[in-house]
Amino acid sequence: MPTLLIVEDNQDNRDALSRRLERRGFKVLIATDGRAGAEMARAERPDLILMDMNMPGIDGWEATRLVKAEPTTAGIPVIALTAHALAGDRGRAIAAGCADYHTKPVDLHKLLAQIEELLTEQGQDLGS
Ligand code: MN
Repeated sequence: MPTLLIVEDNQDNRDALSRRLERRGFKVLIATDGRAGAEMARAERPDLILMDMNMPGIDGWEATRLVKAEPTTAGIPVIALTAHALAGDRGRAIAAGCADYHTKPVDLHKLLAQIEELLTEQGQDLGS
């Protein structure tokens, strides 16, 4: 099964999302801030990244730019997660290099559909 990297500073969100995705059969990696997320992406080459945009220090916007600027990780699709459905955030996420955008609280059914669509584009056979 594909490997997903969750980059999220909030422990409750992180634990809940990783549990739900692991139950669906994904291998889940965790990073708790933007710098660790970009480093883990480089070290582990996950198939897809779920990136919380609102983090202290290196936030999701900057971490996504780091992932996209690094040739070995630039091809990994990033789904932006944000609690604030601010006007323009979707466009801002795409401009930062995100492949898609998801507004929290997470709608698992919708998020899974987004994940599967991107992984299929990447040539992953999800066996469904
Ligand atoms: Mn956050």
